[in-house]
Amino acid sequence: MTAQKTHPYYQLLALPPGYLNIMGYVDESEVNGPGCRAVIWLQGCLRECPGCFNPQSWSFELKEKIAVDTLVGRILSNPRNQGVTFSGGEPFWQAPVLADLARRLKAAGLNVMSFTGFTLEQLRSEQAPLGAQDLLAELDILVDGAYVQSLAINSPDSLVSSSNQRVHIFNPAFQNQLTWASDLMEIHILKDGSRIVTGYRGHMNLDKEI
Ligand code: SF4
Repeated sequence: MTAQKTHPYYQLLALPPGYLNIMGYVDESEVNGPGCRAVIWLQGCLRECPGCFNPQSWSFELKEKIAVDTLVGRILSNPRNQGVTFSGGEPFWQAPVLADLARRLKAAGLNVMSFTGFTLEQLRSEQAPLGAQDLLAELDILVDGAYVQSLAINSPDSLVSSSNQRVHIFNPAFQNQLTWASDLMEIHILKDGSRIVTGYRGHMNLDKEI
């Protein structure tokens, strides 16, 4: 592991205030949380889980710098987006800015969900990434725990990818809306012709070669 990878803030500090480093974005996903929602994949994860569907998300190098203002406008401009999901990579390394984004989207009536490789107990501890409590306070749903290949579920109706992961419902309104499945896939064709495949294990793959 490189020195830079052990200190993700080192690279995140290079971002201007109010900006995120993201790996990808889609509107109108139905396989990354309840209902129809925008999905933001955050760039950077330290875990390097064997079997990770998304190893291109591990690096903390700048992938796409985007302002929260831009994301708020983009998400709200699509009336089919009922909520937003943060995936990764590890969203909680960018928790302070995501908390601000979540606050603004919730004020506009959207719901917010996040995946994380941390456990909820770790996020509530003193060792949690900066801003973790602020982001937790905005979430309707949290799916916690890193992917563990030996505990993979591979069931068409499972909400999680490995049995160590847990779904925490912070907003009781979603108790009966847990309908997404970790083994379903969507293919989004973007305007530039690139293709995003998402849903399987809650992650995404960007394929430029159609
Ligand atoms: S499975 Fe998730 S937590 Fe594990 S390395 Fe991949 S992005 Fe990180």
